[in-house]
Amino acid sequence: MAKLTLQNLNKCFGFVEVIPDVNLTIDDGEFVVFVGPSGCGKSTLLRMIAGLEDVTGGDIRIDGESVAHVAAADRGVAMVFQSYALYPHMTVRENLSFGLENIRMPKDEINRRVAIAAEMLQIDALLDRRPKQLSGGQRQRVAIGRAITRDPKIFLFDEPLSNLDAELRVHMRLEITKLHERLGNTMIYVTHDQIEAMTMADKIVVLRRGVIEQVGAPLELYNTPRNTFVAGFIGSPR
Ligand code: ADP
Ligand code: MG
Repeated sequence: MAKLTLQNLNKCFGFVEVIPDVNLTIDDGEFVVFVGPSGCGKSTLLRMIAGLEDVTGGDIRIDGESVAHVAAADRGVAMVFQSYALYPHMTVRENLSFGLENIRMPKDEINRRVAIAAEMLQIDALLDRRPKQLSGGQRQRVAIGRAITRDPKIFLFDEPLSNLDAELRVHMRLEITKLHERLGNTMIYVTHDQIEAMTMADKIVVLRRGVIEQVGAPLELYNTPRNTFVAGFIGSPR
């Protein structure tokens, strides 16, 4: 069953067309990585799926229903940003619960969800701290924890590890993979890092200038790249 469908998706900024015509289906529970060079439209695609950016043309369907004109908060998606996007004046606990209080979720349920997310991300001991008292890795754990508390149908990650050092990146990569195994939700992960794509994805979508060059399992792309761009970006040297 398709969880997410992009149909003839088009995006223009003024006169500049950055996404000409994207068609893509993502199945329930898949971990899909969008990979491509800087400026190829990865963030724009993700932001349109999240509802943070208007679509110029085409449609976005989640569980078969069109959401192209549904407000971001009502789409059942949660996004994790490279910059963490935590509220600096709030504690970790408040950052985790704020969005749920906004939709008037009962306090007991909020507490239950915060506890589960804190346990999964091992941030229990940090709940009373503020973001500036945390390391970059801890901040990103909080941002991922916040996405978990929303219990989204789809998680969207926009280069979440780019601000972390190499060692921590490898560690967090494994943690996000484990999280996916544990939760089973559909996840879309954007990166320009080929190694992240190869090690994390069920399915990789290779983008160039807003166009999907190839979609496939990591080894499929590695062994049988469709063109020299995919080969240069992901394939084995030939
Ligand atoms: P990526 O995330 O792959 O680096 P982006 O989606 O951020 O790429 O950008 C794709 C293209 O769209 C780039 O050429 C970028 O300059 C342009 N773009 C992105 N956001 C805007 C905007 N708000 N206004 C105008 N152009 C934009
Ligand atoms: Mg980007």
